[in-house]
Amino acid sequence: MSREDAVLAAVDELRDDLVALLQQLVRLPTLNPPGDGYEEFVAAFGAVLDGLGYDTTVHRVPAGRLDELAPHAGGRPRPNLLASLDGPAPGPTVHLNGHYDVVPVGNDWTRDPFGGELDGGRLYGRGAADMKSGLAAQVIAVEALRRAGWAGRIVHSAVPDEETVGVDNAGTGWLVEQGIISGANTDALIITEPFGPDGVGIGHKGAIWGEITVHGKQAHGSSPRLGVNAIEGMARYLARLDEQLRPLLDERISEYGVTPKESIHSTLSFDTITGGAATNIVPDRCTVTFNRRLLPGEPLDAARKELLAPLDELGLRWDYRETYATEPTLVSEDEPVVQAACRAVRRLGLEPKILISAGSDDQRFVVHRAGITNSLVYGPGQTGLSHISDEHITVDDLVLGTKGLALILADLLAP
Ligand SMILES: [Zn+2]
Repeated sequence: MSREDAVLAAVDELRDDLVALLQQLVRLPTLNPPGDGYEEFVAAFGAVLDGLGYDTTVHRVPAGRLDELAPHAGGRPRPNLLASLDGPAPGPTVHLNGHYDVVPVGNDWTRDPFGGELDGGRLYGRGAADMKSGLAAQVIAVEALRRAGWAGRIVHSAVPDEETVGVDNAGTGWLVEQGIISGANTDALIITEPFGPDGVGIGHKGAIWGEITVHGKQAHGSSPRLGVNAIEGMARYLARLDEQLRPLLDERISEYGVTPKESIHSTLSFDTITGGAATNIVPDRCTVTFNRRLLPGEPLDAARKELLAPLDELGLRWDYRETYATEPTLVSEDEPVVQAACRAVRRLGLEPKILISAGSDDQRFVVHRAGITNSLVYGPGQTGLSHISDEHITVDDLVLGTKGLALILADLLAP
């Protein structure tokens, strides 16, 4: 039997363990914000890896840096779990990274979000897709690799706070800052975010989140000419963007597929608006928050300029506050790990889809700050089944994505 066949057969043998492990992880709530249950999760997942013979360590963000790196955490701990395993012979180091935090539950669930319920070939729960499935796949893919034979070193990192972004953060961002993940100690890095068993993620869009306030002048609502109406000023600004900027954004289309596929364009969304005090006062302030997503090739500064220019053109008084910005991330299709992933997906009988993510993810820290361009996103869950009511993964996808990951490892870590 070839090593590839051995790896595939091993994942099939480990199928029940894979499902049970994902159920165990889903049943440990790790909601973020604010980031509860992190210590319990890290202890349980660490125990699993200890039991498999890994060297595990927990790296906690020091208390003095929590307010800076996790401002939404209210002082709750931010543990990062690192686990390493050496093969029977020396070889390259492959790092497998995944976040263990999950987004809030929200409404309209018909299943227990933390039940890990298995029904009709689907496993339900918050994090079932994004991305406790990725963490379970990492563990079982390595077990399959061990059965088939390997060389080199595997490192897993299970990190908090991916979902709450941040220019810096207490998870992957902090591990990179500390040199715990670096170009010097990592030959290839795979993030097991939910891109689907045929999705090969080579980057993600950039993002700018912020707040724009238009200023006016209060007056009695019966005498609007004595004031300056900030809400009406904001309305003119938004209308101007619709006329001028949106058509330009619609014309900008990613040269790679984007997951989800509806997000192939450059985008801008205004997501909150507040203004005015009462119906008899001309409002002196109106504030919107926005979410701008940039394609690879769109610089942050140019995006800021084209967003803000109409405010001056319209003669508005305004101010601007940015809460998050990250440039787009893109690695080459020629990177060895990307090539290995494409071969693995084909071996599964699927056509690889080279994708970038519409959102941002921790690959930004890996590429821009650690300089690890030999990195990609490959994980079993589906983006479209993430962050929704009744989030789930099909057992078929879970097994297939784990096989894909095991094949990538077998390729990179041959004896
Ligand atoms: Zn995720």
